Amino acid sequence: MRLSGRVALVTGAASGLGAGIAEAFAAEGAVVCMVDVAEEAKAAAAVAAADRYGHGTLYHRADVAVAPQVADMAAVALGHFGRVDILVNNAGIFTESRLEDMPLEDWDRVIAVNLRGTFLCTRALIGQMLERGWGRIINMASQLGQIGGADVAHYSASKAGVIGFTKALAREVSTRGVLVNAIAPGPIRTPMLDGETEEWRSRKLSELPIGRFGEVDEVTPTAVLLASDGGSYYVGQTLGPNGGDVML
Ligand code: NAD
Repeated sequence: MRLSGRVALVTGAASGLGAGIAEAFAAEGAVVCMVDVAEEAKAAAAVAAADRYGHGTLYHRADVAVAPQVADMAAVALGHFGRVDILVNNAGIFTESRLEDMPLEDWDRVIAVNLRGTFLCTRALIGQMLERGWGRIINMASQLGQIGGADVAHYSASKAGVIGFTKALAREVSTRGVLVNAIAPGPIRTPMLDGETEEWRSRKLSELPIGRFGEVDEVTPTAVLLASDGGSYYVGQTLGPNGGDVML
């Protein structure tokens, strides 16, 4: 059990990668606080999956883009568990449009959830990690933050921002025991991909060296690695379970 005794908080945990990471962390012995903007009923299956390991799972509803809700989230998690050792900034949203047609609201909302949310949750929880001299922060980027994607300039910019934030913060806090890294998955079969057209799917599949989309459990091991002692020499890295979509 690589995360025994650790307390983790995962945002965007009601669905997809966040749900998978929460469950994988619980399977490794962590206590998990699952945070999502979704109503508790929508998160019930994900919470039950993590809870079956018996370490205690808390669900808290919050919008990571809204500062007072993030402050409440931190207060609830710290009040309940006493500390948060591992933060996974996973909550994210995705819309598509050509730049000339992109609604300002879409630009603002995608940047707010994906980038501002990462900042707000990190700021709310990093102080108590630094006080104890141990912490892990894992930010969910995307391969689109590395190579860009047509019709997703806001999403690509937000995820490139997450990668820059990861590197900057890693330089700031690594000597104080808090390690900050990012994961930049390729296309993974979660509800986020549901809205994609058949045309996009066949084009993307023809580009992907591995020739198929990824599964959630092909990303969760990277999160477990970065959260565990085995990840102790990763600093400011962006790891890419991406089927070869990006090769650095
Ligand atoms: P998903 O839609 O299945 O899950 C995202 C979760 O985030 C949902 O439960 C949603 O309710 C929650 N969420 C959205 N806005 C929120 C907010 N303001 N506050 C709190 N929670 C909020 O998508 P997913 O594929 O699991 O995506 C998880 C992360 O992985 C995202 O950051 C996404 O950008 C990133 N990602 C996904 C893929 C992919 O192909 N699926 C690839 C690269 C990166």
